[in-house]
Amino acid sequence: MTVLVLGGTAEARELAGRLHDQRVSAVSSLAGRVARPRLPLGPTRVGGFGGVDGLVEYLREEHIEAVVDATHPFAQGISANAVKACTTCDVPLLRLSRPGWADEPGASRWHWVDTHAEAAAAAARLGTRPLLTVGRQPLDAFGVLADYDAVVRVVDSLAEVPPRWTVIRDRGPYTLAAERALMESHLVDVLVTKDSGGTYTQPKLHAAEALGVPVVVVRRPPWPGAAHASVESVTAASAWLSRRITPQPPKDDGTEP
Ligand code: NAP
Repeated sequence: MTVLVLGGTAEARELAGRLHDQRVSAVSSLAGRVARPRLPLGPTRVGGFGGVDGLVEYLREEHIEAVVDATHPFAQGISANAVKACTTCDVPLLRLSRPGWADEPGASRWHWVDTHAEAAAAAARLGTRPLLTVGRQPLDAFGVLADYDAVVRVVDSLAEVPPRWTVIRDRGPYTLAAERALMESHLVDVLVTKDSGGTYTQPKLHAAEALGVPVVVVRRPPWPGAAHASVESVTAASAWLSRRITPQPPKDDGTEP
């Protein structure tokens, strides 16, 4: 049996590592968005499939027998495609999505919004020196902050930004001390994030709480696969898969299969 892990997250890498260790035949898939991605253990393919039809073709050609959608909670396109393609091919689909941050200390005081445009408007109202940590793709929605002294943190360089913006290229995991120092040195007075969940980028929330900096959070979009199974941890995903798969045995001579 071959498992397809739709990745681009720490959880997807961890799951791929476990499947590799358990000798489960699995391939990880990355979109190819970042220049130097962190690669999972085991076989990996990079790049879009070509929409639902392309994914259907891939599932059939590669004899994929289970799909784990472990993509980021805000990667709506690929998740929707996975639901449609797996339904078409009658391939079991599991959603692996880490819990969000709604239970974090201070979350009840955060400014929760549904879109990045609403986040931009809220940030414009709440401060003058925002720290934008929403990634590269939604930045078009933040034009209202063009004349603000914004700090923008992204993984890869940006083609064009307003002259008053400071771009910082970095990626998690981050520490509380470093996040606090970043906010203090840039006099950040409002933090903008999406509800990514997980621990890699969580310290910024604690730093904001400690410094009394207001937080604007974009709510997660709904996952369109309610009819399929979904879990919140790699361990639970691994258990779901182990009920469906048989690991490849070592060869008689003891070498790897
Ligand atoms: P998206 O909007 O859902 O996807 C757009 C298109 O990119 C998809 O239709 C698909 O192209 C391709 N794609 C996305 N993820 C893919 C994957 N894992 N393997 C193969 N093709 C993939 O996705 P996105 O928000 O741009 O995110 C891209 C990747 O970055 C995701 O894998 C996600 O896990 C990771 N990521 C996203 C965020 C975020 O905030 N969105 C944050 C951290 C990491 P085709 O239609 O051609 O198949």
